[in-house]
Amino acid sequence: MSTSIMTLPSCIPIPIEENQLKEVIEKTKDWAVMHGIGIRSRTNFSEDSIDFAPFLLLPSTFPRREFEKAVEIQTTLNELMHRVAHNQEFLKETLQGTIQVDEFTGNLYKIWETVMEEGVNQRLSLGLVRSDYMLHGISNKIKQVEYNTISVSMSGIGNGISLCNRFVMEELGHFDLLHNLPENNALTGMTMGLLEAWKIYGDPKAAIMVIVEDVTYNICDQRFHEFELRRLNPRVKIMRRTLTQIYQEGCLTDDNELVVNGVIVSVIYYRSAYTPEQIPTKKEWDARLMIERSQAIKCPSIQFHLAGTKKVQQALAKPGVLEMFLSEPKKIAAVREIFTGLYGLDFDEAGDQAIQMALDDPDRFVLKPQREGGGNNVYGMEIRDAILAMKDTKERTAWILMERIRPPITTGYMVRPGGKNPPDLAEMVSELGIFGVIIGDSQKIMVNRQVGHMLRTKVATADEGGVAAGYGALDSPYLIDI
Ligand code: ADP
Ligand code: MG
Repeated sequence: MSTSIMTLPSCIPIPIEENQLKEVIEKTKDWAVMHGIGIRSRTNFSEDSIDFAPFLLLPSTFPRREFEKAVEIQTTLNELMHRVAHNQEFLKETLQGTIQVDEFTGNLYKIWETVMEEGVNQRLSLGLVRSDYMLHGISNKIKQVEYNTISVSMSGIGNGISLCNRFVMEELGHFDLLHNLPENNALTGMTMGLLEAWKIYGDPKAAIMVIVEDVTYNICDQRFHEFELRRLNPRVKIMRRTLTQIYQEGCLTDDNELVVNGVIVSVIYYRSAYTPEQIPTKKEWDARLMIERSQAIKCPSIQFHLAGTKKVQQALAKPGVLEMFLSEPKKIAAVREIFTGLYGLDFDEAGDQAIQMALDDPDRFVLKPQREGGGNNVYGMEIRDAILAMKDTKERTAWILMERIRPPITTGYMVRPGGKNPPDLAEMVSELGIFGVIIGDSQKIMVNRQVGHMLRTKVATADEGGVAAGYGALDSPYLIDI
């Protein structure tokens, strides 16, 4: 259970009178479905229907100063992670223990080694990224949860939820407060990144290929990008394939262009391939390698994927490491300020100390493996059990220990498909995500932008809050001056 220290005020007085509340929720559920704030049902899956995605009726309050700080620092983080991805020595050294015990990361690493030995056919990498934060402690400063480099979600519907929360504020007559809802252009910003990579490749007939899961629940978020691309440039071909299909339909030409079903692919956009289940057999690994060998611009390239691991995040927090990648002291200080305590569990003195700290006070930490997508971390007393079970094995080097962030509590109405109307007021905590786009190679950065935001909110007692993973709800920030 999270023991949060502070509460933040709500954006308007609550509770809302019951009849008014019911009516506005009914209307907003329809607004949500009709504007694609949707997700496919896991329990009652059908290709023919979409549920609205869980959302917060009212935007949750967030300190303006910290929001602006997160927005401001995004391009520095993009630059940092781009440089990390292109520093072979650093990645190699940082991941050497992890890849021996974590098979998935190990296999990704092998692909990276293979293409480097063979000679890289595409030097450019496209990053559509998101840096996640929670507010921490009495001073409510943002602390980074993680920097996501693959299959970054919610810029599609996250954009829509900002409009949905605005709609509710208007319905309730709070026109004078609308200026506290920051504008959000995440969808266009992220899609522009795909389009720019496609233009750089320079073949008007080539396609953008989205790598998808066998079954996609978070379909609206993904389709929004496809449809936005159509709006921005109606002529660009965009296709969706699983890795299994790429294995069956794909090949490389003599000069390493990727051809799938007869179409040249210039940009690969992963919305899958970040968990072991998504690359289940040798066929999918072969497809993953073929893509990496190709001339297609990958979002992300394999090294950018590896740079997004938790192990790398932990290594960046060590003294003196940021200085290897950033030169301006102001930028270094700003990045250091958003880091929370991060500890490796290697077989060295620091690793042993971290193990002891976790055993002494497990509630202070979150224990994380090298996984993405939610639901993998260990919390509370289970940390102790997990550590005791692995502390004398190599397994421990594949995990990191992170100081637990203690976000302030907000009170709000979470609206869920199948939930009762009106829902009870509940205590919540939020996680802010800032989106970024970066394109470049080891020598130069051609595009580096901050492009928008999203807020995810979960009940205060839940450890994790992924929306697509089923734990949290979509939200948007209501900026306050505190
Ligand atoms: P994943 O790659 O699975 O998304 P995250 O590092 O984002 O992994 O962790 C998943 C979730 O766990 C986060 O969205 C957040 O709700 C919670 N979490 C992660 N790290 C911390 C932390 N240091 N303190 C508190 N909660 C955390
Ligand atoms: Mg996460």
